Amino acid sequence: MLTHLECTRCGEHYPADRPQSVCPKDGGILYARYDLAAIKRTFSSARLAGRTPTMWRYDAVLPDANPVSLGEGFTPMLPSREYPNVYVKDEGLNPTGSFKARGLSAAVTMARHFGLKKLAIPSAGNAAGALAAYAAAAGLEAHIFMPKDVPAANRIECDYYGAHVTLVDGLISDCAKKVADMKKESFWQKDGWFDVSTTKEPYRVEGKKTMGYEVAEQLGWRMPQGIIYPTGGGVGLLGMWKAFDEMEALGWIGPERPKMIVVQSAGCAPIVKAWEEGKQSAEMWTSAATLASGLRVPKPYGDYLILDILKKSHGTAVSATDEEILEATRHWAKVEGIFAAPEGAACLVAYRKLRASGFFKPEDTVVLFSTGSGLKYLDVLDQDVARAPSPAKAASAAQPAARQIGGIIGPY
Ligand SMILES: [Zn+2]
Repeated sequence: MLTHLECTRCGEHYPADRPQSVCPKDGGILYARYDLAAIKRTFSSARLAGRTPTMWRYDAVLPDANPVSLGEGFTPMLPSREYPNVYVKDEGLNPTGSFKARGLSAAVTMARHFGLKKLAIPSAGNAAGALAAYAAAAGLEAHIFMPKDVPAANRIECDYYGAHVTLVDGLISDCAKKVADMKKESFWQKDGWFDVSTTKEPYRVEGKKTMGYEVAEQLGWRMPQGIIYPTGGGVGLLGMWKAFDEMEALGWIGPERPKMIVVQSAGCAPIVKAWEEGKQSAEMWTSAATLASGLRVPKPYGDYLILDILKKSHGTAVSATDEEILEATRHWAKVEGIFAAPEGAACLVAYRKLRASGFFKPEDTVVLFSTGSGLKYLDVLDQDVARAPSPAKAASAAQPAARQIGGIIGPY
């Protein structure tokens, strides 16, 4: 039912029967398009009951290829114990402990389908781990370019999955440049290399869009009033918005949409800045620094789509300081029993601010995306312990100086 790819800038169509990256004319992100009218005739939401509890339960609206699956998706939608009408979508329960599993399951599925051999990715951390795992499962090579100071778990898991890891002295944008330089080499095409960077190929969005299908299905095909989403590259935001349009065309939901809320770290908030200035694209954020490594994206490639979604959905963009994020991480763990990645806990900071400002009312149903597990960030969060006034402080003080997570240049 996948008919073609469509440029999100100029609307040009491209064939979906071969590997594609971005629009050759204007660099626009390509979206997969389906014959939704035909799908509507043969498939209904009622037929989802009893299907496999993974994101591939939605295979009617995914490319027709043999999935590379490790059981990703269909994560719990947990009612908050603190706020009635608030739900935490716990993406930390995915394979490799983060929502990145969805996009990489879909992208690696298609890469194998097209006979590609070597997959390259610049990553701030969790996408690297996910690519490494799915490439291992698919029998493909993963080539990872990550900042030196990513959380230790990301580096170690890539190593164990057998990926080729290059540590870069810089940010994810510097890693992306390394991959871009490699693409100019003659071996790139000849040896079956492919760039699975965020939004530089069409299928990570397809994997991530299943979060939108799940929000609808798990809330009984009702749309929430708001979705708060920690936004680095913003693939999930793009994917969910795409899913809502598809579901409306399929007759699974009506025209109602949640307000889409971007939360970013105050140390790297290009979308928040662009939103506040009423711009249609973001500027490169200089000196990006935050312990929420997944939010250290100085300029997301899909900025124009993210800002458009905020506008169309009557949403907004909010920033949270590292101190606020750390407090929220601790609070969620204690109050909800959810040990979240700092990126996800930033949603709680945003929700509190939006409740205080009256943007959300107590009766509004709001979904907060806990995008990953805190277990992937033990070295980052352990530094928080060192700062906290607790007995753990004395024990930590005896250790060598903590490395500067979030700094651009680490001491090693
Ligand atoms: Zn185009």
